[in-house]
Amino acid sequence: MSAPGQPNGPIVIVGGGLAGLRTVEELRSLGHAGPVTVIGAESRPPYDRPPLSKQLMAGSVDDTSLRAELDSLGATFRLGQRAERLDAEIVYTDQGEYRFGRLAIATGARPIALPGPGRQRFLRTMDDALALREVLVPGTRLAVIGAGWIGAELATAAAARGCVVTVVEAAATPIAAAVGTEVGARTAPWYAQAGVELMLGQAVESVQDGGLALAGGGWLEADLIVTAVGVRPEVGWLDSSEVELENGVVVDGQLRSSVPGVYAVGDCAAFWSARFGRRMRTEHWDTALRAPAVLAANLAGRSEIYDPVPYFWSEQFGRMLQYGGDHRGADRLIWRGAEDDARWAACWLAGERLVAVLTVGLPKDLTQGRRLIESAAPVDADRIADPAVPLRDCLLGR
Ligand SMILES: Cc1cc2nc3c(=O)[nH]c(=O)nc-3n(C[C@H](O)[C@H](O)[C@H](O)COP(=O)(O)OP(=O)(O)OC[C@H]3O[C@@H](n4cnc5c(N)ncnc54)[C@H](O)[C@@H]3O)c2cc1C
Repeated sequence: MSAPGQPNGPIVIVGGGLAGLRTVEELRSLGHAGPVTVIGAESRPPYDRPPLSKQLMAGSVDDTSLRAELDSLGATFRLGQRAERLDAEIVYTDQGEYRFGRLAIATGARPIALPGPGRQRFLRTMDDALALREVLVPGTRLAVIGAGWIGAELATAAAARGCVVTVVEAAATPIAAAVGTEVGARTAPWYAQAGVELMLGQAVESVQDGGLALAGGGWLEADLIVTAVGVRPEVGWLDSSEVELENGVVVDGQLRSSVPGVYAVGDCAAFWSARFGRRMRTEHWDTALRAPAVLAANLAGRSEIYDPVPYFWSEQFGRMLQYGGDHRGADRLIWRGAEDDARWAACWLAGERLVAVLTVGLPKDLTQGRRLIESAAPVDADRIADPAVPLRDCLLGR
């Protein structure tokens, strides 16, 4: 099995996270019996990241490995080995060279660090999470920089473990970068309700020993500092290659990069979405889970398109948040339910189309909203604003 017009030879996958593993699984389930090698910088076998800030941090699980054993996949896993360079048909790692016929780049993303000599921790890997959990003991003063998804989830777990938690956020509200300040504002009261101090509109100048130097001259004392201000695609190792990079590996709807035979998937891939008319790079588990089916099919010579209604969830302060779609092209926000309701949803419209939905404790709205977004059919804004009307009944003229 080889793609027409593309070189034969082994398939090499760089990145042993969810997207890398799922690519091997999908190749095998399509009947590809040829050699597949996975190069992964972490020495752990592939594991799941979402539970790291949730169940693992809460103490209900200790290991989030994705497969009990990898041998049944018949692939070669080169773990604890980092790709450093790509040149023509060879991946150079810190321990050797790998010639490939086709290459899948699945190197994910890495947390952004802030300036300063003090120790800052991150929450990206299982090792990060296990080490952090160990020191989240009652009375520990924890400073979390960033009230994004990870910052909110970590604050939830740390407060439940008895830590004294302060979250410092430069924006005017939590999760502002992801959903905007109008929606983000609705989540701000949850922090105080959980006993977490939230400092909004407060930039951090630098991380120092024993605390944070705050913009404006303030100081926040802390025993532990976790920086959770976002991630960047892990693509520095491709800088000297011919692969086009812009906010990740630039790929088309078929997940093909600018170099024939080289593909990218997961957090590191900025794929073209015809549905939304723009390039998208999601940092969503659902993308790393599902896009590899399309990638594997295309590695096998097909021409399938990955263009989903993106999906993401977060569990924070006892609530389940789910987001579907992409609200960047929206011109209108409609609420379903009041701010102090236990459950509510935010719906974004572009003209008469629903383009994104965020739900709090309303999984049916999420599912039905995603279907409406997928259909691109005109919706009735007045009915959407009535939480008693199921979203599936909000099509215009029905
Ligand atoms: C704590 C946490 C909680 C999350 N919670 C949620 C959630 O609730 N909902 C949700 O939708 N998403 C969540 N996510 C995001 C989700 O986990 C990611 O979108 C998903 O893991 C992306 O998978 P990936 O395989 O693309 O990348 P990764 O999981 O980052 O895997 C990439 C792998 O490639 C390796 N690598 C990097 N560079 C190299 C190199 N040069 N050579 C070899 N190997 C390399 C890395 O070490 C890593 O193991 C969470 C993420 C974290 C960290």
